[in-house]
Amino acid sequence: MHYLGLDIGSLFVGAVLIDENRTLIASDYRRHQGDPVGTVRSILEIFPRDSILNLVRTGSGGDALRMIGGDFIDPVVAGVEGVKILVPDARNIIQIGGGSFSLTRLADDGSYQRSAINSACASGTGAFLDQQSLRLQVPPNELGDRAMRYDKRPPAVATRCAVFAKSDMIHLQQEGFTVDAIAAGLCVGLGISTVDGLLGGRALTGKTALIGGVAINSVVAGSVRDKLGVEVAAPDAPNLAGAFGAACVALSRHRDDPGSVQFDFLPLREAADDKADADAGKGELRPPLALNLSKYPDFAWHKHWVNDDGSEIAIVQPRRGSITVTFGVDIGSTSTKAVFLDRERKVVGWIYRKTAGNPIRAVQLLMKAAREMEREGDFVFDVKGVGTTGSGRKMIGALIGADLATNEITAHAGAAVFIDPQVDTIIELGGQDAKFTQLQNGMVYNSIMNYVCAAGTGSFIEEQSLKLGIPLGEYADRAMGKPCPLTSDRCTVYMERDLDLLLAKGWNKDQVAAAVLHSVRDNYLNKVVGGLYIGDHVYFQGATARNKALVAAFEAELGKEIKVSPYCHLTGALGMCILVEERIPPGQRSKNFKGLAFADARVDVDYEVCALCHNSCNLSLIRTDEGTLAWGLKCGRDYGEKKVKVRDNPTFEWWRRRYNAWLSLDGEKMTTSKGRIGLLQALGTYGYYPFWKRFIEALGYTPVLSPRTGEKTMHDGAAITSAEYCAPVVASHGHAMEMLAGDKADWLLVPYMMREPAHPGFTDAHFCCYVQAHPGVLAAAAGLGGKERILSPIFLFNRPEREVARSLAQGLAALGVSEQEALGALRAGREAQKAFAAKSLALGTEALAWLEEKQSLGLVCIGRPYNTIDAGLTLDLPRKMAALGYPVLYLDMLPYALDAILPEFSNMYWHYGQKILATAKYVAEHPRLFGVYFTNFMCGPDSYILTYFKEIMNRVGKPYLCLQFDGHGADAGYLTRVEAALESFHTWSRIARPEVAAAAD
Ligand code: SF4
Ligand code: SF4
Repeated sequence: MHYLGLDIGSLFVGAVLIDENRTLIASDYRRHQGDPVGTVRSILEIFPRDSILNLVRTGSGGDALRMIGGDFIDPVVAGVEGVKILVPDARNIIQIGGGSFSLTRLADDGSYQRSAINSACASGTGAFLDQQSLRLQVPPNELGDRAMRYDKRPPAVATRCAVFAKSDMIHLQQEGFTVDAIAAGLCVGLGISTVDGLLGGRALTGKTALIGGVAINSVVAGSVRDKLGVEVAAPDAPNLAGAFGAACVALSRHRDDPGSVQFDFLPLREAADDKADADAGKGELRPPLALNLSKYPDFAWHKHWVNDDGSEIAIVQPRRGSITVTFGVDIGSTSTKAVFLDRERKVVGWIYRKTAGNPIRAVQLLMKAAREMEREGDFVFDVKGVGTTGSGRKMIGALIGADLATNEITAHAGAAVFIDPQVDTIIELGGQDAKFTQLQNGMVYNSIMNYVCAAGTGSFIEEQSLKLGIPLGEYADRAMGKPCPLTSDRCTVYMERDLDLLLAKGWNKDQVAAAVLHSVRDNYLNKVVGGLYIGDHVYFQGATARNKALVAAFEAELGKEIKVSPYCHLTGALGMCILVEERIPPGQRSKNFKGLAFADARVDVDYEVCALCHNSCNLSLIRTDEGTLAWGLKCGRDYGEKKVKVRDNPTFEWWRRRYNAWLSLDGEKMTTSKGRIGLLQALGTYGYYPFWKRFIEALGYTPVLSPRTGEKTMHDGAAITSAEYCAPVVASHGHAMEMLAGDKADWLLVPYMMREPAHPGFTDAHFCCYVQAHPGVLAAAAGLGGKERILSPIFLFNRPEREVARSLAQGLAALGVSEQEALGALRAGREAQKAFAAKSLALGTEALAWLEEKQSLGLVCIGRPYNTIDAGLTLDLPRKMAALGYPVLYLDMLPYALDAILPEFSNMYWHYGQKILATAKYVAEHPRLFGVYFTNFMCGPDSYILTYFKEIMNRVGKPYLCLQFDGHGADAGYLTRVEAALESFHTWSRIARPEVAAAAD
């Protein structure tokens, strides 16, 4: 007789049938495509049901499927039971499944000790890999094989978060990396981040079993093995280990209680139907999706077909002969589009196809499709003017010889205004990005892009359609008119978990499909729009606007007409046609254009690492018959010119001089001889370096500052952190490691920085808890040696001077510092800090005068000193922004007044929160300054300070930019946002503001 184990996960169902000797009789493993109940039923159809004596369910959907009978056991327990038999000498289990990953520790006898599961995000799971495969247009089950094909060092892909993974992948695509290379980077990165997430830098001992669906991917498994550095064993079918464990439990429970002999499936299957229907009828429902206020285009074309390469081609009107056209191309991360616009500004035809991780190939196929369009339409294009936009605009623009390459926000707005000059609001959900754009008089004055979560984008809908097994073409019709249950809009993880649960409870797929659209809309409105004014002429753009049901979801929530153009999925390409016509004089168009014959050009891509300077740029060399195009040279040198190019950057001067003033204090040189005390160029000490430097000198010691944050700092820091922290805290660990290893300093000063004196009117002035507990956080880092050399005085700036001196002296007892000495040093330090503050302000005053004189705009970098000034954490963005011709200023260079935010923000008890909001107020009221907010992934205080910041800006309708960093390395996505923001800053400066302010109210 037999015993059945069922593992019902978020993506797959695994089933294992064993006999009383635990011998495998049958097994099955299937993607359930949103129908776990049906999948279990069809598996049971082919299993010898009559011989099954007991059944145990496990997996994330196992409990919800209790209607099919049998006991439920936790997936961790199932894993332990399976591994006991499959890898009996394992002492740890790493389980990577569709929706979660976990680490379980086992005792010497193989019994359970403890386990940890991924906390914040789905990154690192099978669902995450599926999402990325979809982006690369590789079937999920082939991703590992594609990764195996790449035999060089895989390029780095940040796998901790889907948004960052996406921007790294786009960056690699732009650099010409192949799909195999990106797949390899993805799989290796996923293995590393899984181990980092589970171990937080701690070492693992003992043999480790690797199980779960993702363990089938040999590149991920290899990466886990390399990262762990211990013996790792994966059973033959690691994806079925949980189901096997469940089957073993079914066997042992039956032995303990044979009373339940003869398991009868038939009535249970009927009960399952009843239960699903009963559950589906419960709870609050969202109303059915319907279009009541909005007209929807019929997308009718003269000729429309999809060719063998998968390019969707449309000829809009019948034409003949030679047609002079402008050619606009939009190379996005998921799709590549083209529009041909004639001299009368009528669209002749368009092409839409997948980028599939290879923008060069996508554009060649686009050109091929254009020639097919010529043949089919019996006309010939005479291309006079070419423009590119999208994430691949610069590389492709250079390759095909475009006249203009412009960011997508400007291109999309250009198209919207062309279609309807009255447009004042653009809602846009692209494949990977979500944007919200506000216009006035045909000009963009504010544009916001998603920076946190990919949940409000088209790719999420595509992923869910794949999971549900609903073809995208049918999605809208199936979701329309369906009431559906409430689901989370918080982030992809919560949304997916809610959807998994609904499916496991038996809600029908169409209702779940409708729920996805409500969640995507809510996520977009909350995370991207965030309370900004939505006008009366609202256009919905992007390929997702072709989903009628999503348009209906927006209409239902906003209660307004949502306009959709038949070119909604092509607006970037259409906008480029318009911009080329507006910005490039006729005589200068198409001078370098390679022509549609580029479709057949030989294009080879090669890689090289430049060794000419410490940047070690990863170069892509794109070779055609006409020569070599080198890409990725950060300094902008010509490839043939074998030396680093040094460029003047006068608008960076004030920032640079401030940093230099911070590094080397003015004033009397102190004699120091007692020893060296290290300081971290990180976290709390960052904002107070002048104070601590002079304080240490006054005590007779030599201060030694840790070097600037670099890749190694982040890597070392991540290896020893004891929990998941924001990037500045991770960096501080790396700095501490650097200073405590070797002979850099005799001591390391890491104070408990508690609070500043509260400015009158404010309740308090705390530093972030990580800053306050910095020495304690470092003490918890298991891999940090030399902790006994850390000096940790408690520093309460808000207490009376004598008390502060006493507390400092106590914290420096190891140095024998007296209270009197501490008092003297404290006063000297305060003077130095004051002098630096005055210097910084003077530099800002100079910069403001320059702005007036030049009538220029300036950018204020708003954030904490340790995450805004630290070039290693910001990818040197302030310098790169200055290189675009705009002075960059840090907030302490401005004469803002804390009183200005009273009494409204009197309970803002974060010290830097007060400075940030007061600066925001100053910037909001200054006609030449614009704010760029620097924040970090997982920053607690910013989760609401940022909301207040936006409120202040929104009141005056002033555009701003928000950049979130995570200590990872690609700057392409950030620069796109900067370029787009600059366009809206300029526009805002030109338009009449009172109208905007009134609208914002
Ligand atoms: S910045 Fe210039 S010189 Fe330096 S590595 Fe990059 S391409 Fe080479
Ligand atoms: S304020 Fe934010 S970025 Fe700074 S340490 Fe705290 S959590 Fe990290």
